[in-house]
Amino acid sequence: MRAMTDNPPDLRPDIARARIPETRRAGQPAIGMVSLGCPKALVDSERILTRLRAEGYAISPDYAGADAVIVNTCGFLDSAKAESLAAIGEALAENGRVIVTGCLGAEPEFITGAHPQVLAVTGAHQYEQVIDAVHQAVPPSPDPFVDLLPESGVRLTPRHYAYLKISEGCNHKCRFCIIPDMRGRLVSRPAHAVVREAERLVESGVRELLVISQDSSAYGVDIRHAEERGHRAHITDLARDLGKLGAWVRLHYIYPYPHVRELIPLMGQLSEAGGMVLPYLDIPFQHAHPDVLRRMARPAASAKVLDEIARWRGICPDIVLRSTFIVGYPGETEEEFEFLLDWLDEAQLDRVGCFKYENVAGARSNDLPDHVAEEVKQERWERFMERAQAISARKLAQKLGQRLQVIVDEVDDQGATCRTWADAPEIDGNLFIDEGFEGLKPGDIVSVEVDEAGEYDLWGRLVQA
Ligand code: SF4
Repeated sequence: MRAMTDNPPDLRPDIARARIPETRRAGQPAIGMVSLGCPKALVDSERILTRLRAEGYAISPDYAGADAVIVNTCGFLDSAKAESLAAIGEALAENGRVIVTGCLGAEPEFITGAHPQVLAVTGAHQYEQVIDAVHQAVPPSPDPFVDLLPESGVRLTPRHYAYLKISEGCNHKCRFCIIPDMRGRLVSRPAHAVVREAERLVESGVRELLVISQDSSAYGVDIRHAEERGHRAHITDLARDLGKLGAWVRLHYIYPYPHVRELIPLMGQLSEAGGMVLPYLDIPFQHAHPDVLRRMARPAASAKVLDEIARWRGICPDIVLRSTFIVGYPGETEEEFEFLLDWLDEAQLDRVGCFKYENVAGARSNDLPDHVAEEVKQERWERFMERAQAISARKLAQKLGQRLQVIVDEVDDQGATCRTWADAPEIDGNLFIDEGFEGLKPGDIVSVEVDEAGEYDLWGRLVQA
């Protein structure tokens, strides 16, 4: 029997971490889920599973035990499309009854061309259609006495942190990105609904909320920052409301607009309930040279970003900045690339990811002139990573001897894997505790003194708060 959990964790991290507490009752229909792609897609998978479970379906962790398998696809890059097609092929081979959803569902012919046997194809966020397709393939068989939806739904991430999606879609038109074509324009959730979901998550034991969307700083623009039931749909107000709940609140996908300055004073303030907006901003800069940014058609592409960063650090010296960059964008010259390296030295970002530019079917950047040769992209990527690694190592070395709060992610017989508030799960580094960790459990927030620092990770020992 092939388990979906056998898949490489980097390919299907959600399933590897799925927590489905109940055993299957006799005759209960079961659905499997393979979820590819970004944290935003993971939230969609969670919603689909939550709904199915509420309707009485069991969730199967293996292909053999599933009456049908949903594959939630990613179509962001051509490599992700290939990965999605491969996952659909695997599910067909192992189970045979497959429903496809997610970003790649926007191109149904692409999927049915390769895999004509799939039962249905629906696009991203088409929850109703996915559920309909499941009903058709595997009729529900509810049992009102046992099919109670857990308080906060099924989450595929570990219990102590949860992604909180605040909006869908995007109003920008970055040339390398097809998300606005696939997901449409920005649609924000009402703030009271987001806060209510967050409250339920915290009540059920979540200690860290990861706020996500395509552009969190634009949250509420489409609904004119409407205030309803005491909650205003603006990122500053939302962060303030979430910060009161007793969990760490981490903000992802923020652009350096001037109003972001108002978020900074909220950071690091411990609320009465013991939570806070973390001094952490995830800002996808993608490049630093103004001409490259213009060719990318990036939002907030101003040369004043370094001034803005300095201003943030003036308000909150502890603020941690993470970002991602693209090297080898069409037309990128050696001079523009070196500008980026110098900028990186000045910005001293704490956490940095880097991608080599790749064409994506349908992206407008494909038609730009002067594409960069693969070996040049590779060479620039290596130089970029070397520079970023040196900055990271220097920044982590400064933490030696410091006392920091960490959240425990995992404990095994070797030690505890934790994160400081400077580290987002899955994308940043870790802090490891090798001794005296036996009493710890996932979700605990404890104090440590840092006694060793590497290029990306820290080691520490437990101390009294
Ligand atoms: S901001 Fe740009 S890269 Fe991000 S989703 Fe919108 S269009 Fe795509």
